[in-house]
Amino acid sequence: MSYVALYRKYRPDNFDSVIGQKVTIEILKNSIINNKISHAYLFNGPRGTGKTSVAKIFAKAVNCLDNKNGNACGMCELCKKIQKNDIDIIEIDAASNNGVEEIREIRSKVKLLPSVAKYKVYIIDEVHMLSTGAFNALLKTLEEPPSHVIFILCTTEIQKIPLTILSRCQHFEFKKINSEEMFDSLKKISKLENRNISDNVISLIVKLSDGGCRDAINLLDQVLSLSVDNINEKEIYDIQGILPEEDIMEFLNTMSNNDMISGLNYINSFVETGKNLSIIVDQLLVLLRNISISKNVNNYFSKDDQEKYNSFNFTLENVKELTKLLIELKNQMNKSVNQKNLFEIFYIYMCDVVVNKSNDNYDKIKNDNLEVSNDKKIKDESSDKTKKVDYNDENSINIDSLKKIRINNVLATANKEELKKINSSYERINDFISNKVYNNVATLLLDGKVIVASSQYLLFVFEDKSLIRLFLTNLEKIEKFLKELYNNEYKVMCVDSNEWIKIKNEFILNKKNNIIYKVCSESEFIGNKKISKFEHTTSDIFGEDIEIVN
Ligand SMILES: [Zn+2]
Repeated sequence: MSYVALYRKYRPDNFDSVIGQKVTIEILKNSIINNKISHAYLFNGPRGTGKTSVAKIFAKAVNCLDNKNGNACGMCELCKKIQKNDIDIIEIDAASNNGVEEIREIRSKVKLLPSVAKYKVYIIDEVHMLSTGAFNALLKTLEEPPSHVIFILCTTEIQKIPLTILSRCQHFEFKKINSEEMFDSLKKISKLENRNISDNVISLIVKLSDGGCRDAINLLDQVLSLSVDNINEKEIYDIQGILPEEDIMEFLNTMSNNDMISGLNYINSFVETGKNLSIIVDQLLVLLRNISISKNVNNYFSKDDQEKYNSFNFTLENVKELTKLLIELKNQMNKSVNQKNLFEIFYIYMCDVVVNKSNDNYDKIKNDNLEVSNDKKIKDESSDKTKKVDYNDENSINIDSLKKIRINNVLATANKEELKKINSSYERINDFISNKVYNNVATLLLDGKVIVASSQYLLFVFEDKSLIRLFLTNLEKIEKFLKELYNNEYKVMCVDSNEWIKIKNEFILNKKNNIIYKVCSESEFIGNKKISKFEHTTSDIFGEDIEIVN
């Protein structure tokens, strides 16, 4: 026997088994009992709240010859005919039939009498998806509906329905199902399925489905498909790919405590355990919303929850800035191939927001990310904006000049053996993933690779442009880390893969023309001293040692 989804199996077949919507049900039943049938109904409400189910129940009940207190009897001639063949109950999904043609077809068929039933009932799901032309065609039918026709329009987005349509329909609002009713129904279904699911687990399903009956039953279905009975809350979170609120709170707490290392560790573990980072961003947004409400409104949450949310030492300004950053992160994530890197970068900025309690960070990251999102734009080196970083304590070095000189120097001193040595032990960086001091730079370096090496210089390449900035602002820490790792003092620089292709081609061309690369002193660059990119001589001193590796 093929498996029937629980949601279908327990779909209500009469008004009395519908979960929630008591008022709506009462009115609809009375209209049938009193034979006061309207020709057009509009059911509006969130997804999974029973609109289509109620529409179908109504369509059957309105046609029954021996109506039992508003419900179809299921026994009479018409009930039986309708059960066998839904010919006079016509369901249309406007999401896939939004054309004028489909509505015209309805219009032409509307005139025909029902084949067996009293009423022909058209149930149009997602009616807001109809095109303007289709709405106009529908309007013509609604203006003068034949007496044997009933339209039931269902929608989740009433604001998209033209007023001309709305004004011709009797309107019913479907509400989210309240927690107690949902809890009782889920409990009942698991009993009918001969399964023993703990109340805690059922409460969690109720909470996660947020008043949507279909979502709740579908989630219960997934839970029941696990073969064991002692299912715990953790498994529910795993099924949903989300984190328990306590974990989200602990993660957010790392920002409030400026404990960046733990935070980056968390991000690592999210990825390792297969969590959906985009959903985690949503969860963070919900938590920030709760914190914000709790700071502004008393008694909105229970006393315990209020205490929990107020435990964060964020200012309201912080909450606002963090929310902005998370929304921006969510937008960027949709375009990025490496969501983890992006998450890490934004995480560091968010820590910054909390520590510095300033707003410049948001503008800064917004501008930086314009570059990330525009992959096709290959930056022209000569037009690069000058960015300053505090590299040595006493001197601020022009980072673009530093970049040029280090690229020059690594090419001038490149050594194939050194590169082999570095790469053969590069995997050891993995050992530092959970190191308290170096875990963030270790994570960063694992996303790149060393492309040119010499005994004094290393050039890294990153596929993801967004990591370049992170690298450049951590030069000192990276060098310290590499000293620990390789027991040698390297000066480091990085490029993205597009830059690297340009540098490599230029290098090959120069080599052909016997132009050699000469090591330059970095001290000459302190204080933005202008220097030409390369110094050329005619003798090829280093040529034999240089090896470019793809
Ligand atoms: Zn009947």
